[in-house]
Amino acid sequence: MAPDTHVETVLDSFTDGETRTHIELTEDFAAHNYHPLRVVLAHGEGAWVTDVEGRRYLDCLAGYSALNFGHGHPRLLARAHEQLDRLTLTSRAFYNDQLGPFSRDLAELTGKEMILPMNTGAEAVETAIKVSRKWGYLVKGVPENQATIVAMEGNFHGRTTTIVSFSTDTVATAGYAPYTPGFRLVPYGDVEALEAAIDDTTVAVLLEPIQGEGGVIIPPEGYLQQVRALCNRTEVLMVADEIQSGLARTGRTFACDHEDVVPDIYVLGKALGGGLYPVSAIAADGDVLSVITPGTHGSTFGGNPLAAAIGREVVAMLSEGEFQKRAATLGSYLADGLGELVGQGIDEVRVRGLWAGVDVSPDLTTGRHVCEQLLDHGILAKEAHGQTVRLAPPLVATEEDLDVLLAAFREICAS
Ligand code: PLP
Repeated sequence: MAPDTHVETVLDSFTDGETRTHIELTEDFAAHNYHPLRVVLAHGEGAWVTDVEGRRYLDCLAGYSALNFGHGHPRLLARAHEQLDRLTLTSRAFYNDQLGPFSRDLAELTGKEMILPMNTGAEAVETAIKVSRKWGYLVKGVPENQATIVAMEGNFHGRTTTIVSFSTDTVATAGYAPYTPGFRLVPYGDVEALEAAIDDTTVAVLLEPIQGEGGVIIPPEGYLQQVRALCNRTEVLMVADEIQSGLARTGRTFACDHEDVVPDIYVLGKALGGGLYPVSAIAADGDVLSVITPGTHGSTFGGNPLAAAIGREVVAMLSEGEFQKRAATLGSYLADGLGELVGQGIDEVRVRGLWAGVDVSPDLTTGRHVCEQLLDHGILAKEAHGQTVRLAPPLVATEEDLDVLLAAFREICAS
């Protein structure tokens, strides 16, 4: 077995019984594709989780925004339990009584005519790529095999071989060649570079309206509108990956809403499953989604009754607007508190709704080290990029919860 110095170091400095047992078991028997913090979680409720030793933590990662509604939201749990007892899986070989209502409600929430359900975020991105290419050949008239998609430097769209083919993160791509052709990359936020990359073969522009894993990077104001106008002018689909930015996280239902922009394809995941179950989908109008015909795309679990029931409850909760309001109000509270710390070990803070990228000063520390210190203060957070600590508490958090987070940051900055 390959030695893992990280685990050894962690365990040397942390010897609790149950915590140690679970870390050792996980590291011995599960592949080392993550670098977790040294905490073993056993229970969650709302914005808080408890570890196997009974210590409580404020969850400021929220499952990379999959837990926008917190752990075990009673409404989602009740709906899931009810559906678990009734019917969980049919496959799409048959209709089920949950997918139709879910599709209608999600289409209404997105303002689109149709949806195509999948399970994970990466599958939804793959679906958007396939739909865009097919639309390019069948509708735009791009010559067979020539379709190109323009994506952004610094993107994160998932882990499949095709998706990592256009990643600029060498850790994510190394060793996985040969890569899927047909993608061009341009700097995020640079509309002129985007325009230069588009030609007659271009079928789609794929972007995150805010780059999450890139470090909560908010594009220059007006950028999304400019991309929208450019896509209209060049007959190219605008595909917005709202898997992390969407579903109330930024204070609006979608991050694109901040610029009143409607993409041709929304790509959704994470919080669509309420943190209970993997549920993803793309949403688009019929002229785009009708390129998909029986047998040309699918998934055994995509659109299953349990997923659809949970997804429909999520959509119902979002339709009421409360979570969007909470994200906006709590977000400005968090922004004020973090803003006071700029210059005291923090170089920059970017906040949109209840979602913050905190750049810690490279002269003093690293994002990882700050996350380890936050853990000691009872806060769970994860670095996004080397120097950025990403904060995305569940939207059910309270101002008092955020005070706990801000107090921890103040103490760490002071030290
Ligand atoms: N797209 C974005 C913007 C993401 O943030 C992520 C995950 O972090 C994905 C796609 C991939 O989602 P999944 O991990 O469910 O495949």
